[in-house]
Amino acid sequence: MNDIFIYVALVLFGAALGSFAAATVWRIRARQLVADKAAGEDYDKKEYKRLKKIIAKPLDDHSQCLHCTYKLKWYDMIPIVSWLALRGKCRSCRQSIGWFEFLMEIGVAAFFVVSYVFWPGGVETGYDIAHFVLWLIAGVIMAILFAYDLKWFLLPDKLNIALAIVGLGIVGVVAAQTGDVVGTLLSAAGSVAILSGLYAALFFVSKGNWVGFGDVKLGVGLALILVDWQLALMALFLANFIGCLIVIPLLAAKKLERNAHVPFGPLLIAGTVTAWFLGWAVLDWYMSGLGF
Ligand SMILES: [Zn+2]
Repeated sequence: MNDIFIYVALVLFGAALGSFAAATVWRIRARQLVADKAAGEDYDKKEYKRLKKIIAKPLDDHSQCLHCTYKLKWYDMIPIVSWLALRGKCRSCRQSIGWFEFLMEIGVAAFFVVSYVFWPGGVETGYDIAHFVLWLIAGVIMAILFAYDLKWFLLPDKLNIALAIVGLGIVGVVAAQTGDVVGTLLSAAGSVAILSGLYAALFFVSKGNWVGFGDVKLGVGLALILVDWQLALMALFLANFIGCLIVIPLLAAKKLERNAHVPFGPLLIAGTVTAWFLGWAVLDWYMSGLGF
């Protein structure tokens, strides 16, 4: 009974924060375009024109249709529900409003529910709850980074920094919960060395050709939210594994150029999330196999 309320709350909060995450993606993009234009760099003129309304009124961005300027009512802005009721079309001009917002709402809501169901050891104590809530916040930041890197091959600094700060919070909670401050800090440092250090090495060796410095910075935040160096190793493995699963069929079907740019951010994030939920089970199984 109690659990039903928890699930309903997780879906509602997740969908609302997914909607917030989608809006944040456009807001950061709009600011990026303005900055690029001011710096005299190349920028996407078509996109700049489309996002102009957001640029002019940054807090008012989702209150009108980008095609016909129809003013959205409150019932047009209910996460997931409005999109389904309108079948992804504007109420006024019937133009498609796209899948992006809907997928972000569904995605973050699913992340919240899955996180609760598969939380290692269950969400019981005050420490568990603090850890769980910080993890959900990290999830919202990761959703924004995931979408941004997929769309524009960029991982904005502010988001990387925000993720690292949440990560430090998680390290603090784990240190307090286990009472092993030195061990936790060492494991977290090892985690950073594995997830960020490897990409830093690749970055310097290739002079920025293979991976971007954004991946190096993202690795710090992801390493901190995992805390454990063994999980970081697993995340790295899973990120590359998932990458191969996606890239090899595309190469085989000649849908992808050999030297095409592959965004590592979404792969690292997917690897990290999978490692967090699968990792403990695998480590338990491995340790019991060794007779610990
Ligand atoms: Zn419209």
